[in-house]
Amino acid sequence: MPARALNFGAGPSALPESVLKQAGEGLLNFQDTGIGIAEISHRSKEFKTYLQGVESDIRKLLKVPNSHAILFTQGGGSAQFSAVVLNMLARHHERYPVLEPEQRVMDYVITGSWSDKATKEARRLGGGTVNVVADSRKFSAQGKFDNIPSHKNDAYKFSKNPVLIYYCANETVDGVEFAREEGNETSFPFHLLPEDSPLVGDYSSSFMSHPIPRLQNHAIIYAGVQKNLGPAGLTVLIVRKDCIVDVDKAAQNGAIPIPLCTAYRTLADHQSLYNTPPVLSIYISGLVLRQMMLEFGEDAMEKYAALSASKSAKVYDALKRGEQKGVFKSKVRDDSGSQMNVVFDVVGEGKLDQFIAGTEARNMKGLRGHRSVGGRSTLCFHPTWWANALAGVRTLVDYMIEFVEAESAVAQ
Ligand code: PMP
Repeated sequence: MPARALNFGAGPSALPESVLKQAGEGLLNFQDTGIGIAEISHRSKEFKTYLQGVESDIRKLLKVPNSHAILFTQGGGSAQFSAVVLNMLARHHERYPVLEPEQRVMDYVITGSWSDKATKEARRLGGGTVNVVADSRKFSAQGKFDNIPSHKNDAYKFSKNPVLIYYCANETVDGVEFAREEGNETSFPFHLLPEDSPLVGDYSSSFMSHPIPRLQNHAIIYAGVQKNLGPAGLTVLIVRKDCIVDVDKAAQNGAIPIPLCTAYRTLADHQSLYNTPPVLSIYISGLVLRQMMLEFGEDAMEKYAALSASKSAKVYDALKRGEQKGVFKSKVRDDSGSQMNVVFDVVGEGKLDQFIAGTEARNMKGLRGHRSVGGRSTLCFHPTWWANALAGVRTLVDYMIEFVEAESAVAQ
């Protein structure tokens, strides 16, 4: 087997080697049953107990209060673009039965291509009206997703009694993230929310890597696990219990009918086992959670957050150095940069390819940016597991600096 690559891919992304080895054993023999995890019934007592353990570890690590259920489903973040709308419209119908669709307002904060996609899905589904609370392109000199609007600028216009208020915590493609500290101008404007706001947060690309600010004030938080926690296939939902509603009753009263597997009520009533769940993804995610607990205990999120801050600071420092020498160009405003993925251009014809070739030669993989930003940018993802492999980030940073020095020497 070749040496394992330093995999910076944004998702699916690197998993801890110790977990992958354990998973190999679990494929042959899950919990001493003599049956592998991919073969055992999801209704066996061993699997059900395992699933409860996964839930309990997420609850402990993210400090999820009892007001919220933790549910497991499939379909990734993309399926939740639709599910959050349908479930929350049903809830709105329950609360306000006689309103017209134009009076059912869904507030969207658009800060990048993922929240933009979610907004388009809400418009496509109908049953309510979309209000764009803020669109970060309006605050960009180039009309691009390169910033998180400051809440000092009166940028956010929330509606009264909305169906939901939607935001994406970390925009994976564009490299912008709401600041995690509340005092910061680019943090999510929790203080501006109307009372009783049904807040929905897409945490797909920073899930289980830091404490979620004001988690208890959210109606729904969701994330596909494939960035930081496990293999693709599992989506984790944290849903405030009053948002788990009788969707069929709502449909009788005029709400859009909801496919059964998408209704939070179905998932909750069947302890997330209405149909066959993605057992392997649940298994490996569970192993990763155990590893987190072993490594840092119940305060692991705080520890990973500190590590993310220090890792990303090193990359941003190298990027700044490259900018000063005209070699790199950041794609995001200084106060909006993500701590998970750093997006930048390499200046000059063919220079991006040259930069990427250098990373590959050093066994670093997955550093080319998303195709939707023209492949002209480099995206470096910092999964939680680089926490104990700061060396991986150091390899990248050392190479960035080497590249900057070599390029600026050529230019002189
Ligand atoms: N939201 C964000 C922030 C993402 O990064 C992604 C995937 N990269 C999605 C949603 C869509 O997730 P999925 O591919 O699991 O449908």
